[in-house]
Amino acid sequence: MFEINRYYTELPKSYLFSRIAKTVADFKSKHPDARIISMGIGDVTRPIAPAAIAGMTEAVKAMASADSFVGYGPEQGHAFLRSAIAETDFSSRGIDIADDEIFISDGAKSDIGNFTDILDSRIKVAVTDPVYPVYVDSNVMAGRGGHLLPDGRWSGISYMPCTESNGFVPELPRTAPDVIYLCYPNNPTGTALTRHQLGMFVDYARRHGALILFDAAYEAYIESADVPHSIYEIEGAKECAVEFRSFSKTAGFTGLRLGYTVVPKELYGLGADGSRVPLRQLWLRRQTTKFNGASYVIQCGAASLYTPEGREQIQQTIQYYKTNASVLREALQQAGLTVYGGVDSPYIWAKSPAGYGSEQFFNLLLERCHLVTTPGNGFGPSGEGFVRLTAFSSHQATREAVSRLSNLL
Ligand code: PLP
Repeated sequence: MFEINRYYTELPKSYLFSRIAKTVADFKSKHPDARIISMGIGDVTRPIAPAAIAGMTEAVKAMASADSFVGYGPEQGHAFLRSAIAETDFSSRGIDIADDEIFISDGAKSDIGNFTDILDSRIKVAVTDPVYPVYVDSNVMAGRGGHLLPDGRWSGISYMPCTESNGFVPELPRTAPDVIYLCYPNNPTGTALTRHQLGMFVDYARRHGALILFDAAYEAYIESADVPHSIYEIEGAKECAVEFRSFSKTAGFTGLRLGYTVVPKELYGLGADGSRVPLRQLWLRRQTTKFNGASYVIQCGAASLYTPEGREQIQQTIQYYKTNASVLREALQQAGLTVYGGVDSPYIWAKSPAGYGSEQFFNLLLERCHLVTTPGNGFGPSGEGFVRLTAFSSHQATREAVSRLSNLL
C-alpha cells in the first residue's frame, strides 16, 4: 500500500467549528422547540450588494452568447479587477501597489493555506495565541508542527500569547521565526494593532529577515484613525510582508468566494544557492501551475463594488454589522461582563464570569439563552476564559440575544 501524508493524521480529529456544530445539533435534537441564535461561526447574513448582483448578472448574460463568452481567464485574475483594487484599496490610501502584485483567488483561506508551499519545509513559524486555526493546521499538514503538546499547542510552532495583561498585543517573538502570521483586526479577539504596534513587527521582520503573513480579512471594519488598513501603510513593509484580503466579510462573498493576495516585488526569499529569489515570481509559478483563476462572474461582481454605488452599498452593510457589535458590547458590559473587540471588528471577545471556563460559559449560553458562541480555548490555550460572539446576525436576532443575555446575567 502507498503511504499517505502522515502529518494529516497527526491533526486533532475535529475542526473547531465541526465540534461546535455537533454540540449544537445534539442540543437541538433534545430541545426541538428552542429558537437558537447563532453567534458562533463567522458567517454573514446580509444579502449581496445590488451593484455586485448587477455586475454578476451582466457577466452571466455575457456567457450566453458566443460573442461575449469568457473562458479561462488569467490565473492572476482579470486586469479590470486588479486595477480597481490597486486604485481603491491602495493608491487612494497613498500606498503604491502595482496591478501585477495583486493575485485574485477564490478566497483568503486558500491563499493563506497554500502560501507556505513556496517556502522551505523546515522554516519556523510563529502565530498569535489565540489564533485563526488555519495558520497552524496548514503548517502541521506541511510537517512543520512537531508534536502536539498536552495543552493543544504544537512543539514546532512558536506562540505569541495575546492576553488581557498585554492588551492583546503580542510581544515580539523571542524564537527567531522565519514566518510570522498576524491577523489584524484580529479573529478571534476583535482587537486591532495601532500603526506603531504593527510598525514594531515590520521593524522586527526587516531586522531579522523574517516574512510577515498579514491577514487583513477584516480591514473593512476599521474605524479607529490610528489603526492601519494595510500593512503597506508601514514603511518598509513591502520588503517583508504579504497581505491577504477577502471579499467575504467586506461584501458578503462567503458563498460566492473571492479574495486576493498582495506579493510585492520588493519581497525576496533565499534560494538553495544563497541567491535572492523574488517571492512574487514563485507565487505566480505556484498559482499558474495549481490554480486556474477565480470565476469570471464573481470577479465581475467584485469589480462592481468598486463603483461609487457599490462602495456605498457595502458600507451600509458593514455599518449594519457594526451596529450589532456595539449593541452587543454595551449589553454585555451593562450585564457586568468584561468585553474586548467589536470596535474595529465584527467580533466580540467576552470574558467568562468568575468561576466559568470557556466551555462552561459556552454551555451556559447555549443551554440558558439558546445562544451559540465559540469557546475561546478552541482558538488556543490563551483563549481560555473567553467566548467569541459575532455581530453577523440580523438586528432582530441581536436584540433578542441581548435581551436573553440580560435576563441571564
Ligand atoms: N482569515 C480570517 C482571519 C478569517 O476569519 C477568515 C474567515 O473566517 C478567512 C481568512 C477566510 O476568508 P475567505 O472566506 O476569503 O476564505
